[in-house]
Amino acid sequence: MSPWDELPVRDELRGKSPYGAPQLDVPVRLNTNENPYPLPEPLVERIVERVREAARNLNRYPDRDAVELRTELAKYLTKTGKYAVGVENVWAANGSNEVIQQLLQTFGGPGRTAIGFEPSYSMHGLISRGTGTGWISGPRNEDFTIDLVAAEKAIAENRPEVVFITTPNNPTGNAVPPETVLALYEAAQAAKPSMVVVDEAYIEFSHGDSLLPLLEGRPNLVVSRTMSKAFGAAGLRLGYLAAHPAVVDAVQLVRLPYHLSAVTQATALAALEHTDTLLGYVEQLKAERDRLVAELRAIGYDVTESDANFVQFGRFDGSAGSHEAWQKILDRGVLVRDNGVPGWLRVSAGTPEENDAFLDAVRELKKDLEQEQSA
Ligand SMILES: *Cc1c(COP(=O)(O)O)cnc(C)c1O
Repeated sequence: MSPWDELPVRDELRGKSPYGAPQLDVPVRLNTNENPYPLPEPLVERIVERVREAARNLNRYPDRDAVELRTELAKYLTKTGKYAVGVENVWAANGSNEVIQQLLQTFGGPGRTAIGFEPSYSMHGLISRGTGTGWISGPRNEDFTIDLVAAEKAIAENRPEVVFITTPNNPTGNAVPPETVLALYEAAQAAKPSMVVVDEAYIEFSHGDSLLPLLEGRPNLVVSRTMSKAFGAAGLRLGYLAAHPAVVDAVQLVRLPYHLSAVTQATALAALEHTDTLLGYVEQLKAERDRLVAELRAIGYDVTESDANFVQFGRFDGSAGSHEAWQKILDRGVLVRDNGVPGWLRVSAGTPEENDAFLDAVRELKKDLEQEQSA
């Protein structure tokens, strides 16, 4: 028996694996959907200035309600989302993972359930378990779109308190049509009043618009966002949500006092002063994403339509095949992601040079696989 077996760990956590994208030291890392561009120097300077100011007051607790930060986030959403939100509609936390955790602590918990349509973002299920919320894995079609009839049936049968819809979806990359989100919202409300959380972590990379306007007249809808991807600030740890003010009030019941440090608030405010520059990188990454899709198809891979800063490609021979392909790409110095979707791998859009290195690696891999087949 290992000491693990003797720890009085909660039953629902026993035997589960923690979130664990490998952090390997290889030349080209395209496995966690980070923005490959470091922050521009003027922004780095501005962060230092704002953090220096904040440092003078570190003897005091930070603004518990992060009012200045939420005001600026609301302005950003209003400017880019085709829908006006105010500070009362916005809440922020340490990454959208913490936003999701606070939502599940508020609306999920023991005796309650949450549903997601898998394959999707694994943290929705993991945080559900961590908060004692039962997890229901809903279905998708072969092409990774949401099977609406089956999804509505799963909602009607299970009557979950929380419904997760990730759009654009991770790891598959495809966006969910607004009509599908609306139909699932209706289905969820018909089953019992439940919260529908639209995870828009990648929305800035989408060909389509944010679903923020759907908040109008839908008090049980939440749109969650992050500065980790489009803003190129994964190290900052800042996520946020937009919803009816009642939702923002409700999550106050579970948030830890002073959860957002003064340093985090100062850094995020500095980044929000530079949204124009940061979103300039997004345009480059979208072009690189489209290039990856086109070149992967030209090489002969299957590719799932992508509205995100990453691309799902395959098909390999089941789970063993995708793992073997992952290793062979890694052997060529490129780290991609094996999300456990049998037959598929995911690559994040990097700089043009990184993407070229990746494309060279998968071109060679394709030749290897074809030789193996004809042997
Ligand atoms: C990366 C990602 C997040 C972001 O998490 P942070 O905690 O904000 O870094 C949230 N949702 C999805 C679907 C993601 O892929």
